[in-house]
Amino acid sequence: MGRTLTEPRAAYATLEIDLGAIVANWRTLKAAHGGRPTASVLKADAYGTGAVQAAAALHEAGCAHFFTAHLAEAVALRPLLGGAMIGVLNGPLPGTEADYSDSRIMPVLGSLADIRLWAAHGGRLGRKLPALLHLDTGMARLGLALADVQALAADPALLAGIDILYTMTHLIAADEPASGINREQLGRFSAARALLPPTPASIANSSGLFLGPAFHSDLARPGAALYGINPTAGRPNPMRPVVRLTAPVLQLRDIAAGASVGYNETWRAARPSRIAVLGVGYADGLPRALSNTGAAFFDGVRLPLVGRVSMDLTTFDVTDHPGIAVGDRLELLGPHRDVAEVAAEAGESPYELLTRLGRRYARTWFA
Ligand SMILES: *Cc1c(COP(=O)(O)O)cnc(C)c1O
Repeated sequence: MGRTLTEPRAAYATLEIDLGAIVANWRTLKAAHGGRPTASVLKADAYGTGAVQAAAALHEAGCAHFFTAHLAEAVALRPLLGGAMIGVLNGPLPGTEADYSDSRIMPVLGSLADIRLWAAHGGRLGRKLPALLHLDTGMARLGLALADVQALAADPALLAGIDILYTMTHLIAADEPASGINREQLGRFSAARALLPPTPASIANSSGLFLGPAFHSDLARPGAALYGINPTAGRPNPMRPVVRLTAPVLQLRDIAAGASVGYNETWRAARPSRIAVLGVGYADGLPRALSNTGAAFFDGVRLPLVGRVSMDLTTFDVTDHPGIAVGDRLELLGPHRDVAEVAAEAGESPYELLTRLGRRYARTWFA
C-alpha cells in the first residue's frame, strides 16, 4: 500500500491574496462607472488569483454579473454565484449547448454559426434562451463583423428565438487614452447596434472605464484592475494591490570576488559577495527574463537578482544587507514589487505575469 506524501509547500514560497482588496477594487470600478452595473471578469482563474475565492467574495459584495473565458470555468463557479449572470466570452462549441442551459450559463455569441447553434438549441427546448451578442468593432478576433450584423438585420428570424441580454464590444486600445481608435470603435458599435432590435449595451474593460462617460454603458466588464493592475496608464494606480509573493531564504553563501553565480556564468562577483538562494524559479512563473535585472525586497531594501533565473531556484545579491538570515522571507511581488513594475522589468505585460503565477505556491486568501 502506498502512502500519500504531502510536502509542506509553504516551505518554498507563499502567495497571499487579499480578497478585501479585490472587493474594494470592484467598488472603485463601479464608482468610476457612475454606480452602474459592473461585472467581474474571472477568466484564467481570476487572472491567477483564484476564481473560486474571488467569485465568492465579489458575489457577497453584491456583484451580479460575471464572465469567464471557458465553459468549464463557468460551470465550476455556478454553485457559488446564486442567480448571478455568468457569461462565457469564448462562446459555445458545438455539443456544449445543454451544458450551458442546464447550468444557466450565458454564451457570448460571436458569429452567425454561434447564433444558429444557440437558436437551434432553444428550438429543441421549446423556449427562448438568454445569451449575449458580441459585435466586432476592431479586434478581428471574436464577434460579428458588420456584414454579419447586416445579415441579421435582413433576416430577423435568426435572432427571434434568442433573448439577447446585452450586446457587447471590446476595446482594442483602452490603455491608450489618446488613441482615436477608442472613439472610432464607439461609432462603429452604435452604427451596428442601430441595425438590430434595441438591447442593453456592454462596452468598457478596466481601462475603458477611465476613458470618460461616453464609454460607460449598461454593463462594464473589468478584469485586470480587480486584481490590482493599474487601469490608468501613466497615472497613479487607483487600485489596491492584491497579491504578495514571498519566499524564505534557503541558503546564504559567501563567494569570492571573481566567482560566478548560476547557469552559464552570466553574473560574476566584482567583490566578495553574499548570495541568498530562494526556491522559486521560472517553473513558478518567475520570468526568466528577470535574470540579472529583477530584484527582491527585504526590510525596505532592494536586493538585485543575480545570475540566471533557474527552473526552481533564484539567487540574490544580499552583500549590502548582512542582517539577512536563512528563513527570512524576501518579497518578490507585493507593496514594494508592483506587478506592473516587475512585468516591465521582464519585458512582458502585467496580465501575463499574473496569469502565469505558479501552481506550486502555498496560496492563502484573506479578507
Ligand atoms: C478579458 C476581457 C475583459 C476584461 O479586460 P481587462 O482589460 O482585464 O479589464 C473584458 N471583455 C473581454 C471581451 C475580455 O476578453
